Amino acid sequence: MVLNELAEKLTKAMAKIIRTTKVDQKVVESLVNEITSALEEADVNQDILSGLRSKITKRIIDHGEDEHLQQYLTQVVCEEITSVLDPGIAPYVPNPRKPNVVAFYGLQGQGKTTTCAKYGAYFKKRGWRVGVVCCDTFRAGAFDQLKQNCNSVKLPFYGSYAEKDPVKLAKNGVEHFTKLGFNLIILDTSGRHRQSEDLLQEMKLIDSTVKPDDRIFVVDSSIGQAVFDQANAFKKAVNIGSIILTKMDGSTRSGGALAAVSACKAPIVFIGTGEKFDQFEPFHAESFVSKLMGFGDFRGMIDAAMTSGVDHKKNAQVLSKMMEGEFSFEDFKVQIEQINKMGPMDKIMEMIPGMQQIAKVYGFDDDKEGTVAIGRWLNMMNSMTRAEMKSSPTILMKDGYDRRVLRIARGSGYTVDRVRDFFKYAKQFSEQTKKFGQHQYGQNFKQMLNMQNQMGDGGQMNPQQMQQMQQMMKQMGGAGGMPNIPGLQPGADPHQAVAQLRQMGLLPEDQSQMKKMKKVMQGRK
Ligand code: GDP
Ligand code: MG
Repeated sequence: MVLNELAEKLTKAMAKIIRTTKVDQKVVESLVNEITSALEEADVNQDILSGLRSKITKRIIDHGEDEHLQQYLTQVVCEEITSVLDPGIAPYVPNPRKPNVVAFYGLQGQGKTTTCAKYGAYFKKRGWRVGVVCCDTFRAGAFDQLKQNCNSVKLPFYGSYAEKDPVKLAKNGVEHFTKLGFNLIILDTSGRHRQSEDLLQEMKLIDSTVKPDDRIFVVDSSIGQAVFDQANAFKKAVNIGSIILTKMDGSTRSGGALAAVSACKAPIVFIGTGEKFDQFEPFHAESFVSKLMGFGDFRGMIDAAMTSGVDHKKNAQVLSKMMEGEFSFEDFKVQIEQINKMGPMDKIMEMIPGMQQIAKVYGFDDDKEGTVAIGRWLNMMNSMTRAEMKSSPTILMKDGYDRRVLRIARGSGYTVDRVRDFFKYAKQFSEQTKKFGQHQYGQNFKQMLNMQNQMGDGGQMNPQQMQQMQQMMKQMGGAGGMPNIPGLQPGADPHQAVAQLRQMGLLPEDQSQMKKMKKVMQGRK
C-alpha cells in the first residue's frame, strides 16, 4: 500500500495498545509520541502535529481512566488523524444528467495529463460518457501525449495541432463533447515550471470562458508539506474545488503532502499510486486512515464490490447456497468472476485487517499470479459441458475423471496437470465454504447476504443501507467498521491468524495444502 513505512509504524503502535492490559496516562503519552514521530518522518507539518497531540491528550484526560479507555483511545487516535486529512468540505459530485466540465490545473510535470486519463477511465468504467480536451498548447507534443493516454484507456479526445489558443480549444472542446451528449468533459491544461504570471493568466482566461463545474488541482505529493503554498497560490487564481495528489507511490514524504493540502481547505478526491492508468484510488480520509492503522477498509471493500458490475443479488444467493454445502462449477464461476471484477487482489487484501501480514508471510502478496490463475480456471470451465458445470468436483473426480481431464485439457489448451490442480482447488474451495458456513462468523455473514438479497435494484446499496451494514459489522465487534475476527487485527501474529482462519474454513487445513495452493496460484504447477 502507499505510505508503507508510515503504515507499518502506525499499525505497530496500535497493535501495542490493543495488547496492553492496562492503559494509563503513561501508555497514552508513549503512543502519542510514537504516532507523532512517525508522522513527522512522513513530513507532516509541526503545527499540525502539535494540534494533533493536544487534541488526543485532551480527549483522553476528559474521558478519564476506566475499563473502556483502551477502545476509546484507538477510536480517538483514528478520529483525530482522520480530521487532519479531512478539511470537512464535500467535493463536487458530478451530475450524470448534464455535461459536467472538469478542468485540471497544476504546474508542469505534476501528472495532469496522466491523471486526466486515469480520472476519465475511472468514470467511464462506472458508466459515464467521458471526453478529454487538450488545451495544452505550451508544451511540445502535449496533444500527442494526451492522444496516446486516451487511446490506451479508450477515451475519446479533442484537440488540434494548428490551433494555438488554449482558450479557444477549451471552448470548442466543451462544445464538441456537449453536442455528442457526453456528461463528463475533462480539460487538460498546460503547466509551467513554476507559478508564472502567464500561467495564472492563461488559467484564469480558460476558467472564465468555460466556467468549469469543478476545478481540480493536480500536485506531485513527493514534495511533502511544500504543496501547501503551491495549492494556495492556485486557489487564489481560480476557485480550486478538489485536489488530486499524484506519485503517492514514490515518496515517504507524501504523508506530509496529504496533511498539508487538506489544511488549505479543499478535499482530496483521488490519489495517484503509479504510472499505470489503473493506479488511481478514490480518497476518503476515514477509510485511508483505517487502512493506515491496520484496521482495513470496509467502505472500500463494499465500493469495490458494488462497482464491479456484478449482479449482487444473484451473487449473494449463490454464495449462500455454497455455504450450505451445495457446490456447482456454475456457482464457482460466478464467485471467481466476482473476485476478478473487484480489481487487483493486492488492493482487496489491504482492505482486510491483518491480511497483508499474512500475505507477506505466506507469499500470497503477488496479485498478478492470482489473477492469471483465475483467468486460466475460467478458460477451463468454458471447456466443460453444461452437465459438468451443474455438477460438483466430488462427483466429477470419480467416474471417468481421467478422460474428463484429458478432454478439458485439450479443449482449453492447458496441461493435464493444470486441469487436475484446478479440480483439486475447486474441491478444496467447496469444502472450505461449507466449513465457513457452519462457523459463527459464517452464520453472521450469511445474515448479511440475506440483507443484501432483500435490497432492490440488483442489490445496489444506498447510503443508509451501507450504514446499516457497517453498524452490523461493528456489532460483531471490530474497530474501523470491520468484524472482529480474532487474529485479524493490526499487528496480529500472522501464524496465529492463519490458524484462526483455517479453523473458520477460510484457509485450507494443513501446511502442505497451503503450499500447494500457493503454487497453483502462482502457476508454477
Ligand atoms: P503534466 O505535465 O502535469 O501533464 O504531467 P504528466 O502527466 O506528463 O506526468 C509527468 C510524469 O509523472 C509522467 O512520467 C507520468 O508517468 C508520471 N506520473 C504521473 N502520475 C504518477 C503517479 O501517480 N505515480 C508515478 N510513479 N508517476 C506518475
Ligand atoms: Mg501535461
